[in-house]
Amino acid sequence: MLKKLIKKKRITSNRTKIVNKLAPALSAKLHGFMKAQAKSIAAQVVRLYVKKLHGLNALRKITTQEIVDQLELEGWAAFVTTDIAPDLSDVFKRAAVEAVDMVGADAEGIDINQMDERALSYAKDRAAEMVGKKVIDGELVDNGGWSIEESTRDMLRSTVSQAVEEGWSSDDLFNAILDSGTFSPERASLIAKTELGNAVEQGNLDGWKASGVVSGKQWLTADDDLVSDECNGNQDAGVVGIDEEFPSGDTAPLAHPFCRCTMIAVLDDGSDAEKYDAGKLLHKLLKK
Ligand SMILES: [Zn+2]
Repeated sequence: MLKKLIKKKRITSNRTKIVNKLAPALSAKLHGFMKAQAKSIAAQVVRLYVKKLHGLNALRKITTQEIVDQLELEGWAAFVTTDIAPDLSDVFKRAAVEAVDMVGADAEGIDINQMDERALSYAKDRAAEMVGKKVIDGELVDNGGWSIEESTRDMLRSTVSQAVEEGWSSDDLFNAILDSGTFSPERASLIAKTELGNAVEQGNLDGWKASGVVSGKQWLTADDDLVSDECNGNQDAGVVGIDEEFPSGDTAPLAHPFCRCTMIAVLDDGSDAEKYDAGKLLHKLLKK
C-alpha cells in the first residue's frame, strides 16, 4: 500500500464520490431550514417594499438597499451551530483517523481525545465563519468577512431591485422570493458539498499532521480549462510544508465553492516522496 502512487484523475473523482455520498442528507437538512425561512423573509421584504412604494408612516421613503439591509436573518447562527456543526465534526474526525491509518503511522501514538477536540473546534470555528464570526476566548466576534447571511442578502438584492424597477405587486415579489435561487435545493446542495469537502480535506490534514510522518502536501486540481487561477496557482506551488499555506492563503482545499481540487500527503522518508490519496481513503472509510 505504501508504494502505490495514485494518479491525479483518480484522486479527483474519488473526492467527488465521497462528498456526493454524504451531501444529500446534509443538503436536505439545509433546504428544510431555508424553506422555513423563505416565507418569513419574503413577508419582511414585502413589508419594507410597501413602505418604499408608499412611504407610509415614514419621514422618507426607504431605499432598495435599505430593504435588503433591514432584513433580519437571525436564524442561521443557531441552525449552523446545532444542526450543521455536529455533521462537520464527525466527517472531520473520521477523515483524520483514516488519514493516520493510510500513511502507515502507528495509531498507538495518536491521542484520540485531542483529535476529537480538534474536530469539535474545527466545526465550531467553521459554523462561526459561516455566519461571519470567529471564536475568540469562547466568545463569538464579528470577523467582517464573508457570511451566509450576507450572501443571502446579495441574492435577494437583485430580486428586490427588479421589483422596484418594474413596479411588481407585493404578491409577485413575495412569490418571486419564494421561487428564487436563494432558497432553492441547488443552493442547499452547494453549501452542503462545500462544507463537507472542506471538512474532509481539513480532517485529512489533521490526521497527517498527527501522524508525524508527513512533512509536506501538494494541491491537485482537476487539470482542465475550468480550474480557477487561484487553484492553478496552488498546484503550481508544488510541494509545500504540512503547516504552510498555499498561495491562495488556504491550508487545504477547497479554495472556493465548486472547487474540485484535492490534496495529497508527501512523506519525508528519503529521496522518493510517497504520495497518498485523501479522496481514496475517505471513500474506503465511508463504504464500511
Ligand atoms: Zn480548486
